Amino acid sequence: MAKNKTEQQSLNTMQPDKNGYFGNYGGAYLPPSLEGVMKEIADSYQSIKEDPAFIEELTFLQQTYTGRPSPIYFAKRLSDAVGGAKIYLKREDLNHTGSHKINHCLGEALLAKRMGKKKVIAETGAGQHGVALATAAALLGLECDIYMGDIDIEKQAPNVRRMQVLGAKVVPVSRGTKTLKDAVDAAFEAYMEDPVTTMYAIGSVVGPHPFPMMVRDFQSVVGREAREQFLAMTGHLPHHVMACVGGGSNAMGIFSGFLDDTEVNIYGVEPGGRGPAKGDNAATMAYGKPGVIHGFSCYLLQDAEGQPLPVYSIASGLDYPGVGPQHCHLKDIERVRYVVATDRDALVAFYDLSRLEGIIPALESSHALGYAIKAAAKMKSEETILVNLSGRGDKDMDYVMDHYPLEAYEEQKLLVK
Ligand SMILES: *Cc1c(COP(=O)(O)O)cnc(C)c1O
Repeated sequence: MAKNKTEQQSLNTMQPDKNGYFGNYGGAYLPPSLEGVMKEIADSYQSIKEDPAFIEELTFLQQTYTGRPSPIYFAKRLSDAVGGAKIYLKREDLNHTGSHKINHCLGEALLAKRMGKKKVIAETGAGQHGVALATAAALLGLECDIYMGDIDIEKQAPNVRRMQVLGAKVVPVSRGTKTLKDAVDAAFEAYMEDPVTTMYAIGSVVGPHPFPMMVRDFQSVVGREAREQFLAMTGHLPHHVMACVGGGSNAMGIFSGFLDDTEVNIYGVEPGGRGPAKGDNAATMAYGKPGVIHGFSCYLLQDAEGQPLPVYSIASGLDYPGVGPQHCHLKDIERVRYVVATDRDALVAFYDLSRLEGIIPALESSHALGYAIKAAAKMKSEETILVNLSGRGDKDMDYVMDHYPLEAYEEQKLLVK
């Protein structure tokens, strides 16, 4: 059981230093025109986060609007089929809008409102952050502009429609890779044009200080709930906790319930894509080196000049060349192990969970699940794995069935191996 640690020593609630660094990573690399506005966000957040009225409003919305707490589910048929450790799922897919992203979007939109902003703007990859932010904006009466790469717009058409129905403006980004990285650049530029009446609502634990800390704080409700629920359910903590890592927000959310419990093994699962070659994956920790992107420093997939490399993953929400600074710190201090699951691992896990449990997972979450299934097979039946099921897979069904038809799965009667 966890020892009682002081606030300062806690990794669960670790604060960045005064310049916004977690260890060697993070900070705020900004054009002078944005330094003031970012400080304004940091200062407002610092005062608001302790405000009982803000906490009460956020908690009320989490319970009555999002549907928190999300349950923990023991995946018995999947665990039996694997024949090793028992696999449990934290069901963030059951949140309103279908993923964990509503957790930080409600927080960010509430903050924007309190700061007197009229509009929130953001980038989106899979469309999940865009949908969640458009939802929060509709709820709180804010305008909302969402920047999205052309390729993602095509891949994620239903989410584009959803944002439009919710009243958001979807701005297509046709430059560069036409995916998440360029959408971030475009959204940043739009923000610089009007930082007074708008607030940038970043979609993960990335970007300049205070976003990595703030988004982590808004997501930490997942870990706090999960720790309590798992204890109540089993009488002990999970032996292993796993989550997929794109920018790293769902992972920081669940990890921050368990980082101080040193007996719990924690794994961040990165997208291994088609393999280790440059441009074939987005496994930042596995293949990257420290660098700077989008206003912060982190492990980065980069070329010799330090420019971000084009990255790839079957999961739109994971194909980002950087990663949250706190994750980089957790890697360096060896508290979290960062591992890889390939496209294929994710696709097989997508069908495995659908067929064995009646739960269709997001392709992003399927990476964590794919790694968990492989790992569980090598473990004892007394061991337990808690996977953060970050989202539901309805958005991915067409894409999966076109690229990895059902017959292929059924022919091989696969479990991820
Ligand atoms: C966006 C997304 C992710 C990846 O983002 P993180 O910040 O790494 O959590 C993972 N799962 C789902 C369902 C998503 O929508």
